[in-house]
Amino acid sequence: MYFDTHAHYDDRHFDSDRDELLPALFEAGVELIVDPGCDTASSRAALALAEQYPFVWAAVGIHPEEMAHDPCDLAVIRELARHPKCVAIGEVGLDYYWDKEHRAEQRALFRAQMELALELDKPVIVHDRDAHGDCLAIARDYPGARGVFHCFSGSAEMAEELLALGWHLGFDGPITYKNARRALEVLALCPPERILMETDSPYLTPVPLRGKRNDSRNLIYVAEKIGEVKGLTAEEAAALCMENGKRLFGIGDAPGRSRCWATPAPASPRSRRSSARSTTCRCCIWTRCSSCRTGRSARRTSSSTSCGISWAATTAGSSTGTTAICCSRGGWRRPTRS
Ligand SMILES: [Zn+2]
Repeated sequence: MYFDTHAHYDDRHFDSDRDELLPALFEAGVELIVDPGCDTASSRAALALAEQYPFVWAAVGIHPEEMAHDPCDLAVIRELARHPKCVAIGEVGLDYYWDKEHRAEQRALFRAQMELALELDKPVIVHDRDAHGDCLAIARDYPGARGVFHCFSGSAEMAEELLALGWHLGFDGPITYKNARRALEVLALCPPERILMETDSPYLTPVPLRGKRNDSRNLIYVAEKIGEVKGLTAEEAAALCMENGKRLFGIGDAPGRSRCWATPAPASPRSRRSSARSTTCRCCIWTRCSSCRTGRSARRTSSSTSCGISWAATTAGSSTGTTAICCSRGGWRRPTRS
C-alpha cells in the first residue's frame, strides 16, 4: 500500500544487501518505488533495478552535487529517458549548501534538464537545498513543467506559488523531527492531492529510527505524521499518496488519469497572488489525462493560444459537468460565451 516516490536503492549503502532488501520491502507492503538517478552512472543503475524489479521505476538526471564528477552529457540522459521504465527527469535542481562555487553552472544544467523534461513530456524531480529563490525563479520560467519539489524545505509562501504553478510537494523523514515547524506548516496548507510521501533512502531516516540507514518500510512514520496533520489515518494518508504518485508519474491504474482533477488553488489571505489565481487550475499539466495530452501536442503545432480540447471538470472545487478548455499555459479556463 506504500509508494515511496524517492529512494536511492542504487546507492552504495545498499551494496551489501540490495537483493535481499528489495523483495523484503515489497513483502512489507511497499508496492511502488521511484529511484532517481544522480548522475549518468546512477541513472543507468536505477534503470537496471527497474528492469530487475517490476515494482521499481526509475528517474534519470544529473544532481547538482554530482555535476563536478560527471561528464553531464545530456545526450546520454535523453537516451536513458526513453527507457519504458523511466518515469521522470530527476534528481535535478540546485544545491547551494554543498557547492557554493558553481552556481551559474548549476542553474544552466537545471534549466537544460527542465527543457528536456518538457521535450519528453515527463515530470521533474527537483532537489532544492538552500537555493529557494533561484529554484522558484526557474520554476516560474517553465510554467508548462510539472513534477515534485522533493523533500520540500521552502517557506509557506514559496509552497503556495509552486502549488499554483501545478507542482507537487514531497515530504520525508524530517517532518517527524522535533524542529519541523516550517515543513508542517507547508504540509497543513498543501492540498491533499499534491502531497507525495518519500524516504530519500538511505538518508533522512524518520524518528524513532533517526541515525540508522533508511529504507522504504519507514514510510509508516511519514504516513502517520501526514495523517496527523491532515486528519487522516496512516493508511488513508498512504492510499492518498499512492494515488497522487501514480497520477503524477503515470504508473499503473491511476484513477486520475482519465479525469480532470481540477481543484482551485487554496484561497488564502497569506498570499494575494495565490488567491487571485483561485479559479485557475494547472490540472492538465499533471493529470496526464488523454484529453490533456492531446491538447498539449495540438497546442505545439498550432499558433492558436488554446488547443480547444474540452472535457468535463469532475472533482470538488469546480461544479460537476463544467466544461473547461485547456489553455496555452497548460491550465484550464471557463469557455467564453460566443
Ligand atoms: Zn534524493
